[in-house]
Amino acid sequence: MKLDFDVVIVGAGFAGMTAAIYLKRANVNVVMIENNAPGGQANKTNIIENYPGFESIDGPTLAYNLFMQTQKLKVPYKYGNVIDIEDKNDYKIIKTDKEEIKCKCVIIATGRKSKELGLENETSLTGRGVSWCAICDGPLYKNKTVAVVGGGNSSLEESIYLSEMCSKVILIHRRDEFRAESILVDKVLQNPKIEIKHNNVITALNEFEDKLDSVDIKNTIDGSKEDVKVSALFIFIGNYPVVDMLKNTKVKTMDGYILIDRNMRTNVKGIYACGDVISKEVYQMSTAAGEGTIAALSAIKDLK
Ligand code: NAP
Repeated sequence: MKLDFDVVIVGAGFAGMTAAIYLKRANVNVVMIENNAPGGQANKTNIIENYPGFESIDGPTLAYNLFMQTQKLKVPYKYGNVIDIEDKNDYKIIKTDKEEIKCKCVIIATGRKSKELGLENETSLTGRGVSWCAICDGPLYKNKTVAVVGGGNSSLEESIYLSEMCSKVILIHRRDEFRAESILVDKVLQNPKIEIKHNNVITALNEFEDKLDSVDIKNTIDGSKEDVKVSALFIFIGNYPVVDMLKNTKVKTMDGYILIDRNMRTNVKGIYACGDVISKEVYQMSTAAGEGTIAALSAIKDLK
């Protein structure tokens, strides 16, 4: 049976693109499939200060550099949405919205998607005040007051970024303690343009003339309510793994995240996973790159 590729990498974020580099350099016939801009979460990150070798670099530039590295090696890149994977034991059929690709192995590097608050008009206000990307939409709210919700690294990093262009950033967090790294917490506490509203949850998004106008918040300690006038709300409340394409396989997951062994092999022969989609403790770009390396080397070994 003729295979289209030895290895298909689903997802071209830091894990997927790193795997592609290692596979191509080992002369493996590999392709990357991605349904978005290559680079994954890095494209939504303003400044990265903890990726080895770069004291400070903006996410899209780092993502572009990595993509160009794959293109200099001539790694084929397809734009498409992988909707299903059929496991035929010795080979796999990757089904996208456009075509079917036969391959020996598949590396799942699909990462995670942003969580939503679940409020009534959240989806309809997307692009009209509600956003999940400060680097993309922040400049639209120059000199305006915006809100950020969340208490992890993303919400604090993006609040700092937004404070550089917005007149005020109101950071709304449901607890009295942040889970972000202390270096970020210190920066936020020292930033005069960031106002913190601890112990508050958003209960409604109010619109005026088809745009977000204010958010209703409720204090979880004393139950007091407030209508906070903002031009935009940036939501950074965590993520969930993208694994829909595995629904017809026997790949094991835990809380939605793919279970792998220390060599990035799943329980199904020929299916590997790496990056933010796997079950693990640390979700960093540096760890994603490392896991992409391991997944590629495991696939190379198994192909031999
Ligand atoms: P996260 O660490 O999971 O934090 C999510 C935050 O949102 C938490 O503070 C959580 O509150 C809050 N939250 C969750 N659901 C909520 C809801 N329904 N309403 C209100 N608030 C809600 O997510 P993240 O900040 O996106 O980070 C994801 C991962 O990437 C983490 O492992 C993080 O360390 C990593 N990351 C690293 C960097 C970096 O190293 N520079 C940058 C960005 C992200 P509770 O705290 O109360 O649970």
